[in-house]
Amino acid sequence: MIYKKIITTIFIMLFLASFASAQNNAVTTNAEGEECLSIARNFLAGYGITVNRKIPVEVCSLEIFQGHHTVISGGTGSDVGGYYQAFAPESIWIITGYSREYAIGILAHELAHAWQSTEAPAKQNKMLKEGFATWCQYKMLLALGAKSMANALFSLSDPDYSQGLKTYLNVEAKSGIQGVINYARTAI
Ligand SMILES: [Zn+2]
Repeated sequence: MIYKKIITTIFIMLFLASFASAQNNAVTTNAEGEECLSIARNFLAGYGITVNRKIPVEVCSLEIFQGHHTVISGGTGSDVGGYYQAFAPESIWIITGYSREYAIGILAHELAHAWQSTEAPAKQNKMLKEGFATWCQYKMLLALGAKSMANALFSLSDPDYSQGLKTYLNVEAKSGIQGVINYARTAI
């Protein structure tokens, strides 16, 4: 009888351990967010898209994110679970609990906005800005092997994201990665 109890206890512990390790895939702390940002940084640096300053990552609840995002952006709707805050202080915000792949994709998107803050024309329209950031997110997700997450970007409800992504993929098909970066630097 006692053995049965011990075996049952061991099974329950194994179950809890596997559940905990599945949950470990989720990004829930600022340190995990910054680790994911460094993966996005390294990937984009391979394309020559570099941001040479430290940018803290704030991993926060949906409620805090929505409240803060409304203050910062005036509440413009988007499907992206992160945003780039240009100052006071410069930072990247992301909703807690996303899988590592999804979070790294978002962080590549937001890092692209940080790059634009010094490298792209201030007057550049929203479709060109969001299109480039979404292209960076798309390429990051493909590099991680997250193909269905990458393809879901074509279905984002805001056309500035989905059409913008297609615009940059067309530029890439014609003029390659360097063409994309030149376009992102100059188009308005
Ligand atoms: Zn964006």
